[in-house]
Amino acid sequence: MKSYYIIDSHCDTIGKVAEHGIEAFRNNEYHVSVEGLRKGKVGLQFFAAWINQKANTSCLQQGLRLIDSYYTMLSAYPDALSPIRTPQDLDIAIENNMIGAMLTVEGGEVLEGNLLNLRILYQLGVRAMTLTWNYRNEIADGAMETFSNGGLSLFGHDVVREMNKLGMIIDVSHLTEKGFYDVLEVSERPIAATHSNAWSIQSHLRNLKDKQIRLLAEQRGIVGINFYPPFLSQGPTSVSDIIKHIEYISALVGVDVIGFGADFDGIGETPTDIKGPQDYDKIINALLQLNYSEDDVKKIAFENYKRFISEVL
Ligand SMILES: [Zn+2]
Repeated sequence: MKSYYIIDSHCDTIGKVAEHGIEAFRNNEYHVSVEGLRKGKVGLQFFAAWINQKANTSCLQQGLRLIDSYYTMLSAYPDALSPIRTPQDLDIAIENNMIGAMLTVEGGEVLEGNLLNLRILYQLGVRAMTLTWNYRNEIADGAMETFSNGGLSLFGHDVVREMNKLGMIIDVSHLTEKGFYDVLEVSERPIAATHSNAWSIQSHLRNLKDKQIRLLAEQRGIVGINFYPPFLSQGPTSVSDIIKHIEYISALVGVDVIGFGADFDGIGETPTDIKGPQDYDKIINALLQLNYSEDDVKKIAFENYKRFISEVL
């Protein structure tokens, strides 16, 4: 079996650590553990702090609590996890056989409508932000706001510009289609849909239309393939359903736009033959068997995101 370094652009493991303590991560109780990341040869894992807009605590306070859990996790594994804040950090982590960890926030409501909070989050190590979750916030409407389907607000324009200036990854997963096009108009750097699939294969609100994928590809952005069964297909799912989305997107625009964003620990179920990052080699080998060149597989697994990170951060 061949294996390649992997970059995975979305998991919700910090939430598990915040809720259940570091033991949950250590004992492999959920999808992601250090052992699983090592087995899967994950060179960089994005760790998202997911903000629950409907909780009673302030969004910023929730974000800070999750960021604290992220740093608790890093200090529990100083020999395994290495924080990534610059493209050079990633090179060094790989050289030293460490697992790179990138701190991200899922849900721009964390800013509570204030750009100052964005700059402070950057200082705390946050290098990507998903502009919305499924609902409306100060920045834009989320994908489930189907009645209004609104785009970026004025504040949203400022956030995109400020993220460009800081060198933060703008994540458009969960955004409305209208918001997606607005961000592309405003952003001067490539953007990512860190955990979304192809709508033409599975017509779910969280997936991307062909036009969106074409524009992302033109702009040198990334689509991180999500492993959540309802975003992959109808009915039981397996590695072959993940492959279908990769096949579709590569036929549409080529492989350079494709990465992985499995959404481990954020999804209640996974494809039957995937339990966590330890199973990445199954996907890699399935691609190689389909006669994707080694170079193309390396791009999908790692190189596309590495190139993207070096252009954005
Ligand atoms: Zn998500």
